[in-house]
Amino acid sequence: MLCENCQKSFATVHLRGWRRTPAGSGEEEREVPFEHHFCGECYEGLKKTNPLFNPMLAAGPGARLVKLRVISASPGRIVVKPIGPQSDATQDEWGVLASRFPPKYSVPGMEFEMVVTDAHLKYLQGQE
Ligand SMILES: [Zn+2]
Repeated sequence: MLCENCQKSFATVHLRGWRRTPAGSGEEEREVPFEHHFCGECYEGLKKTNPLFNPMLAAGPGARLVKLRVISASPGRIVVKPIGPQSDATQDEWGVLASRFPPKYSVPGMEFEMVVTDAHLKYLQGQE
């Protein structure tokens, strides 16, 4: 996969997260997944200069990039675990509502990176 910015180098940075879309035109406010794929060079440059390309900045205070592994998935509940050096030490596992989790990521054993905020975690866990 090529970097979506320069279209020349292979993308090595894969960002996945959720973006809240505002209510309007008959639709409720909802969260939709987004994905970005950049080469390391573009990512370094973009995240310094343009908040639109930096989901961590765009997501607001407390936002952080975590790598997650899906531990288990049942019809109502998905259990994910932060892994890797950036893992969140405050919690071992996160149980999230399946209805608030994109089905394409609800696969046991799947690993992906995701931008989260404390507020978003509460939303996923059904505490909001
Ligand atoms: Zn690039």
